[in-house]
Amino acid sequence: MTKSAQHIGMGAQIGFGFVIVLALMVSLSVIGLRYVSEANQRLKDIALNNNVKIELATKMHSALRERMLSMHSLPILDDPFDKDAEIQRFNAQGIRYTQARNQLEHLPLNRQESDILARLRKLTREAQPEVQAVVEMAMFNSNQQEAFARIRKVAMPAQRAIAEQVSALLELQRSQTEVAVENAETSYGRVRTLMTSLGTAALLIGMLIAGFVIRRVSFQAKQLTDQAMYDPLTGLPNRSLLRDRLEQAIELSKREQHSFGVLLMDLDRFKEVNDTLGHEVGDELLREVGRRLNETVRSEDTVARLGGDEYVVLIHKLDPTEASFIANKVLTAMDKPFHWQNQSIDISASLGLSFYPSQCDDASSLLRCADIAMYEAKRSSKGYALYSQDQDHTSRGDLSLKSELREAIQSNQLCLYYQPQIDNRSGLIAGLEALVRWNHPQRGFLTPDTFIPLAEDAGLIDALSRWVLKAALDQLVTLHQRGTMLNMAVNLSARNLHDMELPDTFSRLLEDSGIDPEYLTLEITESAVMSNPSNGLIILTALDKMGVTLAIDDFGTGYSSLAYLKRLPVDELKIDKSFVTDMENNENDAVIVRSTIDLAHNLGLKVTAEGVETQDAWDLLSMLGCDQSQGYFMGRPMSVEKLDLWLRESAHSSTFASALHAV
Ligand code: C2E
Ligand code: CA
Ligand code: CA
Repeated sequence: MTKSAQHIGMGAQIGFGFVIVLALMVSLSVIGLRYVSEANQRLKDIALNNNVKIELATKMHSALRERMLSMHSLPILDDPFDKDAEIQRFNAQGIRYTQARNQLEHLPLNRQESDILARLRKLTREAQPEVQAVVEMAMFNSNQQEAFARIRKVAMPAQRAIAEQVSALLELQRSQTEVAVENAETSYGRVRTLMTSLGTAALLIGMLIAGFVIRRVSFQAKQLTDQAMYDPLTGLPNRSLLRDRLEQAIELSKREQHSFGVLLMDLDRFKEVNDTLGHEVGDELLREVGRRLNETVRSEDTVARLGGDEYVVLIHKLDPTEASFIANKVLTAMDKPFHWQNQSIDISASLGLSFYPSQCDDASSLLRCADIAMYEAKRSSKGYALYSQDQDHTSRGDLSLKSELREAIQSNQLCLYYQPQIDNRSGLIAGLEALVRWNHPQRGFLTPDTFIPLAEDAGLIDALSRWVLKAALDQLVTLHQRGTMLNMAVNLSARNLHDMELPDTFSRLLEDSGIDPEYLTLEITESAVMSNPSNGLIILTALDKMGVTLAIDDFGTGYSSLAYLKRLPVDELKIDKSFVTDMENNENDAVIVRSTIDLAHNLGLKVTAEGVETQDAWDLLSMLGCDQSQGYFMGRPMSVEKLDLWLRESAHSSTFASALHAV
């Protein structure tokens, strides 16, 4: 999953969590409010109905009691005015009772209440005549005793029966009020429980989300730290972490008074493996190298990858006298072939070592010194080198040379030397190889081996190659104008195969010169082609289309893949001088030379041998069927002036031969 997809995924999860919490909160409020309003409604009912009913029933009850008291008082009163007042009170209580009952009957009633009221109505109706009779008796009859007796025996029981019903009504309404209050309380209780549980759920979900967010955030923070500190391919510490460790090591070393070493390792020809066998193999190889380094050193030492095929090992408690021991241990670990799907790939490495505190006193200079030593190891092909100040001067020298080289190309400090190539059958010159020299104002005459790598490093190789081709073509024009129809070979560097514009540039220079392309040979080393096979093929094909001759230089020294060579549009192989020079003494070299000649001829290629230093070597090459020879024996690389002389005087020169013929 990509990082942004992960990010969106996490954002969505958190968002979803918050939506749930929000929904819970909203439902919590809605449900809570509903329950509260229900409970309120119930309480309102109690207030509006039951309390009114109770009030009315109480009114009925007190009216009845007052009426009964009035009834009792009537017989005892003698004064007709008092009697009259009492009668009025008696009647008023009756009206009060009836009004209260009527009001009650207009309120919403349940069945029990209606039943009681119906009973009351019936009882009142039945009691009415007797009560009336008793009251009249009390008013007009003077016989108190009889009136009393009648009240006690007839009227009072009837009134009491009514009063009992009113009490029952009151009792009923009180109990209804209690039930309503209880119901309201239950409702409130339910709301409380619900609110509490929903609140707890929301809190729990919120905490869960917070926990999740904290975990994700700390996980991502760790991932970021890992990315910032570790190399994703090998899992080894990267440059930043190495720098930290170096600084810690310096502190520790100061405290404990001991020395430590920094070993910088660069794989040889890793790029070739990567380009020919693919990145998958390259990546696995880099991981394997990391594992081997870790197995070689102690666990407290740090193995880091700086990028590309560069590794650094920080070795605690190591001094320069132990350097060779540790360097050999690492080189031995790298010596084992690396296996990939039944293929065995040989790897080798170059190591540079620097030491704290005897050589360098900070992290940057430790790495810089180890790098300079590593460069020296590569240059001397010794496997490893210990840092020394002389190397520093060389590399500082390299730096200044680099900046001077640009100037040199522009201000014509470069010049070409030419070395003849002789046709073995006729013994006559067939062509020249242009070899660049730098006439440095202070350092004198510099050979290409000292500055071509610098030009490649400094990105100046395209400009240099253009300059060489132009100068070589100018020379060829001069020769051709004189009637010396020679071929000219020009060297290309590995880096030229990265420049997709090279064929166009060369084609333009050729056109400008007016030279027929068949007189131009471009030499490219076998390893240069192998280091960039895809672009190499495109560029070589384009050059071939222009009609120039393509030669594989230094053949036999690189990673030969014949299958690949066959696909290249090349016309010529140049056998490397290392085989030719030793051919007479070394049987192996002789075999290589012989088989290379056969192989080239089988593929339809012309063969040139370089480094021919003796007559015997030349004879042997001619015997083996080699087409052309080049070497100190026939002619060293020479300046234009010397070339003119050579062309006039050498036995191999066609001018010389034709002059001889004329005589
Ligand atoms: P190379 O292309 O293999 O050139 C042949 C080298 O072998 C030349 O060295 C030449 O001086 C040397 N040589 C010739 N005959 C003999 C011999 O009989 N014995 C021995 N021991 N050596 C012999 P030089 O001129 O120093 O060139 C070195 C390399 O620099 C060349 O090797 C070529 O790869 C590169 N180079 C030279 N000129 C150019 C250039 O203009 N552009 C590029 N890109 N590379 C160049
Ligand atoms: Ca060459
Ligand atoms: Ca060569």
